[in-house]
Amino acid sequence: TIPIFLHTVVFKASGLTTLPSILLLSPSGSGKTSLLTLFERGTPASTHTSQTPLAVECSLPVGTTASSDKYRSTHDPTSLTHKKFLLIDTPGHGKLRHHAQSSITNPQNLKGLIFLVDSATLSAGDEGLRQTADYLHNILLMLQKRSTGSKAAKALKDIPVLIAANKMDLFTALPAALVKSSLEAEITKVREARSKGLLDSGIGMEDEGEENDDWLGEMGSKEFRFKQMEEFDVSVEVLGGNVCGEEPKVDRWWQWIAERL
Ligand code: GDP
Repeated sequence: TIPIFLHTVVFKASGLTTLPSILLLSPSGSGKTSLLTLFERGTPASTHTSQTPLAVECSLPVGTTASSDKYRSTHDPTSLTHKKFLLIDTPGHGKLRHHAQSSITNPQNLKGLIFLVDSATLSAGDEGLRQTADYLHNILLMLQKRSTGSKAAKALKDIPVLIAANKMDLFTALPAALVKSSLEAEITKVREARSKGLLDSGIGMEDEGEENDDWLGEMGSKEFRFKQMEEFDVSVEVLGGNVCGEEPKVDRWWQWIAERL
């Protein structure tokens, strides 16, 4: 794969860094490749090419208005051009997660983060739930701690996070509300285990400063809730959809993106 710095250079040279961008993260198997291809070409494909794209340029679909264009008249010619944005792919493998970290600590016009999950593997006791919660915990902690990062990271005031609950077409999929509560309950466990030093950090974050810095969400709270992230200007929303299946249903995700552009 192309090293991350090269990708930055390529996009800098082509001027694409000025496009608003959305970071896409997911544990492998959640449907990320399918989503990237669906958003880019209109049809999902999960065939893994030897090199997954690092970023795809997408346009909002017809009938979806970016929030920045909301007050534009329909006669305004600029409203006829579809709002473009970059969907930035990040490798899902544990050891490659620092790519995600670098996108957050050195953001380029970052408008939000999509964390894609497989809603059919999130039942209590499922290994998929544990891994997903572990990954999400690390990402949220990174966002919570971003104020200790670079200048650009500090400038990232509000960060919206969409938990895209995928594969809703499968009858084994949990509904979005349950995806949310399952993840909250499992993150509660991750958080507890971490504070006891039982778990190894999968993301390779350096311990800096006080130990308390590594507690996700509200200090002293027994249960973790996504709402606790609001104190750190991170808003989390869970919306269901499916990339594949008889009929892809991703309109709520498009809407979420549109509201952030
Ligand atoms: P990645 O590893 O995250 O890139 O996941 P892929 O895009 O390769 O998808 C993994 C598998 O899940 C593939 O077999 C996809 O066809 C399947 N898949 C992805 N999205 C959906 C979905 O919404 N519904 C169903 N039923 N299958 C899906």
